Amino acid sequence: MDTERPKARLHVAASLEAGGRVTVSDEQGHYLLNVMRIRAGDGITLFNGRDGEWHAEIEGIARRSCVLRVKRRLREQAVETDLWLLFAPIKRARLDFVAEKAAELGVSLIWPVLTRFTAMGRVNVERLRANAIEAAEQCERLTVPEVREPVPLERALAGWDAGRRLLLLDEAGGGQPIAEAVAAVPEPAALLVGPEGGFAKSELDLLRDLPFVTAASLGPRILRAETAAVAALSCWQALRGDWRRHATPRRGS
Ligand code: SAH
Repeated sequence: MDTERPKARLHVAASLEAGGRVTVSDEQGHYLLNVMRIRAGDGITLFNGRDGEWHAEIEGIARRSCVLRVKRRLREQAVETDLWLLFAPIKRARLDFVAEKAAELGVSLIWPVLTRFTAMGRVNVERLRANAIEAAEQCERLTVPEVREPVPLERALAGWDAGRRLLLLDEAGGGQPIAEAVAAVPEPAALLVGPEGGFAKSELDLLRDLPFVTAASLGPRILRAETAAVAALSCWQALRGDWRRHATPRRGS
């Protein structure tokens, strides 16, 4: 029955329309059948980042694969926050954390950038994407954040669209207090968090000279990179982003 709380929420690539059929990936089939113990007739929720959110029911189950019948739209597609997060890759578990939290905190794009003191040379982008998708499914977003391939910081800056403001989280204390910086920058914006080793002086000099960069401070304590990312994103959402909207009541409340 579709008035019940859906047993799962999945991001799919397929188009979604009333009466349509969607065959989920093997991995999603495994999740639905073996982890969530979904049975024929059970309801789940689907979204694809384009067509809003839909109620669907399990129509057919083969060994691992699972066919869903799309029933009705629960929410229209809506415009979500346009906010990018650039950060220097950190150790795997912490990177997973950043991808998950960035998705929950509503970023539209996650971009690993390699700085001089970045300790992690290789980034598993597929793993980052999987983390971001899982978090988007769980937190009821209507989109999943795009995850870009890592590039050296200089290259990201060289190709930068100057219409997007870059908020540099500067642990050296050269920036404005975060609330002031966030209030002052025009949109759209991106946040840049450095590696555990911090930014090199040459990088800070380069960044501070760029016309689209605003340096910001997160206070007197040195935060770990993932803490800085979560703190700065929270400030953005509270002061400029979608946390300012009055929440719509959730299911069952
Ligand atoms: N090893 C460096 C700290 C790096 S912290 C040192 O000891 O100075 C990792 C990243 O988190 C920094 O590059 C910065 O982007 C961000 N960060 C941490 N603390 C911050 C603060 N108080 N203000 C602004 N950014 C901060």
